[in-house]
Amino acid sequence: MTLFQNLSITRKLLLILMLTSGVTVLLASIAFETKDILTFRQGIVDDLSSLAEVIGINSSGALVFNDRRTAEKNLQALRAKPHVYAACLYDRGGNVFASYQRTGPGEKASLPAVRATGYFLQGGFLHLFQQIDLEQDKIGTVFIQYDLEEIRSRIWQSGGIMAGIIAVVSIVALLLSVKLQRIISEPILQLTRTARTISQEKDYSARAEKTGRDEIGVLIDGFNEMLDEIQKRDGELEQHRHHLEELVTDRTAALQKQQQELEIALNRARQLAVEAEAANHAKSEFLANMSHEIRTPMNAILGFAGLLDSAVVGDKQRSYLASISSSGKTLLTLINDILDLSKIEAGKMELHYEPVSPAGLIEEVRQIFSLKLEEKDLAFQADIDPALPPGLLLDEVRLRQVLFNLVGNAVKFTDSGRIDLSLRNMSGPGRSNVLDLLIAVEDTGIGIPQDSLADIFDVFKQQDGRTAQKYSGTGLGLAISKRLVEMMGGTISVSSRVGAGSRFEIVFHNVAVADGQPRPTQESPVLPDAVAFENATVLVADDVEDNRRLVKEFLQDTRLNVLEAEDGRQALELAANYRPDLIIMDIKMPVLDGYSALEQLKQTDGLKTVPVIAFTASGMKEDRDRITRSGFDGFLVKPVEQAVLVRELALFLRTTGTTVGGTLEDKRDVQDLPPDTVARLPEIINMLETEFQHTCKNVRQRGFFNEIGDFGKQIESLGKQYDLDLLALYGQDIQATAGSFNIDEMNRLLDRYPRLVEQVKALHPKE
Ligand code: ADP
Repeated sequence: MTLFQNLSITRKLLLILMLTSGVTVLLASIAFETKDILTFRQGIVDDLSSLAEVIGINSSGALVFNDRRTAEKNLQALRAKPHVYAACLYDRGGNVFASYQRTGPGEKASLPAVRATGYFLQGGFLHLFQQIDLEQDKIGTVFIQYDLEEIRSRIWQSGGIMAGIIAVVSIVALLLSVKLQRIISEPILQLTRTARTISQEKDYSARAEKTGRDEIGVLIDGFNEMLDEIQKRDGELEQHRHHLEELVTDRTAALQKQQQELEIALNRARQLAVEAEAANHAKSEFLANMSHEIRTPMNAILGFAGLLDSAVVGDKQRSYLASISSSGKTLLTLINDILDLSKIEAGKMELHYEPVSPAGLIEEVRQIFSLKLEEKDLAFQADIDPALPPGLLLDEVRLRQVLFNLVGNAVKFTDSGRIDLSLRNMSGPGRSNVLDLLIAVEDTGIGIPQDSLADIFDVFKQQDGRTAQKYSGTGLGLAISKRLVEMMGGTISVSSRVGAGSRFEIVFHNVAVADGQPRPTQESPVLPDAVAFENATVLVADDVEDNRRLVKEFLQDTRLNVLEAEDGRQALELAANYRPDLIIMDIKMPVLDGYSALEQLKQTDGLKTVPVIAFTASGMKEDRDRITRSGFDGFLVKPVEQAVLVRELALFLRTTGTTVGGTLEDKRDVQDLPPDTVARLPEIINMLETEFQHTCKNVRQRGFFNEIGDFGKQIESLGKQYDLDLLALYGQDIQATAGSFNIDEMNRLLDRYPRLVEQVKALHPKE
């Protein structure tokens, strides 16, 4: 079947036509042949029956009279029929009465037993029986055996003719089929060719040719319609594609334009950012300069005012001096506030969260303001919620700044009555990890008018000229406090009634509860405020004469000889000539600044080891960091106080006297060190260079006050154990700065640690 299906249409049609005509002719021939043979056979049977009847009639007398000879004679007449093979006459009893046989020599036909009238075919012969009646009485039977050779040869003959006819018919049918199948196959083939051409050449404009209105015609019409549709769609698609291309081109152009505009905007933004950065930089620089420029003369103003304090006797003059000092200090506060504000606004203020004891902090506030409260006869009550945990994670330095400002204002603006400071845990029980903290500062002071309430948190906003004049202040404290509180994620608010008092509230949400106990606020150890120096030379390099003079004045009662230089160059020359024991170096100087002068000093033999202390008026942390990094051995910030100057020098110069109010024994020369200490110096130096150095680095990096305080304690006990004042003092200083949260000073001391080790090493007697 598959073979047939794979044939071409032409072949299929030919095959179908040939098979149909062949089978038709064959069947017709078989039917005709069958009919012919049957008719022919019936003719033979009829002939033989007539012949048997004639023989019967002729032989009835012979049967009746038992005349076998006549009977046999009658049978001999059958000789004329060449296909009669044998014949016989049966008598009434069925016995052969007479017989005839056309036999060849030696042949003997076997005669069958008698039967009723009729015939049957057997062994290639037709056997016929005919009963002989006389006056309706059976007297015998005629039997004839007929040879069917005649029929067989007729069949062969007709078969040959039929085969001839079929062959002729087939040839004619083939010729006709070849011709006629084209009527059907040709249009289909043409359609196929058209379809192939279209699919190969993608030419949808081609059409199949229509040959008639029959089914193939309809098929061709359908095919052509389909092509029309495809062509139409093609056209539409082409149009769409074209449209899309146009669209893409348009959009690309628009995008390019947008990109160009964006680039222009971006460049502009970059330029603006650069300008803003430059402006910001300029602002920071301006602030730094301003701070520097104001601090420098303030150094002289406050310093000399301090010196004059003991010299002046009259009350009036003393009050003038007090005014100078307090105005100077206000000016310094203003500068610090402005620097803080600019740092906050430039996003440079960083927060450091650490465990803070609320109770400790409040106690600190009480101590700081105790004198003022006493002076003004104000009651102070601190109320701490017992539900508050002992430690909270907060930025202690900044929180203290805010509290100092609020309580400071309360003290300032309250003439009589009380000040209440309370801390509340606003979270319900159950939340043990975090809580909401409320801090309230309430006073019975002058109060704030309603119309001022909204803007007292703005910069430079004070109630009005009258109160500002009376109470002084910068008008920045609350602005800074608000920003700091908000930086820490809190809110600050105020409610007040003129004449009745004010209440400031700070709320911090989700304050983390600190693990363990925070470091208790330490009592600052009593620090030596005057030292008896041994004879030594100190060089002061500063371009401002007042500053040099001030240092000289501060040190005039000591055994220190002060040399003065106006700039870095002069400082180098003087240092080379006089080999001072210590140099105090201003940073900003004409000709050669402090950094460059230091660099050259550290490269000059014989001057390398002279300690150099930076004398800076800059309040900027960056400048202080730079000073520390540059290799200065210490630094003093203008305006400097006498005690601070002396203490700093005492760290580097030999002293012989007792520290005034000091807690330490005299410092000693190396010769005075107990022999045991001298013997153990290598061991001590080793400890200082390994485990202590490691701890120092660690605590400096982590910046936890309690750890730094502990480190100070360890150094102090090491110093005391081996009678090394140098170490004991250093340890105490560290504890003091950590205890008072003086971060800058504390870090400076920690950074000075390597220098301390060098100093201890220098105590080792040279061989
Ligand atoms: P300063 O106190 O330096 O003037 P602040 O920013 O701290 O600046 O305060 C701004 C102003 O808010 C103050 O000048 C004062 O008028 C008002 N103020 C602040 N706290 C109080 C207070 N407790 N009682 C009355 N007025 C206050």
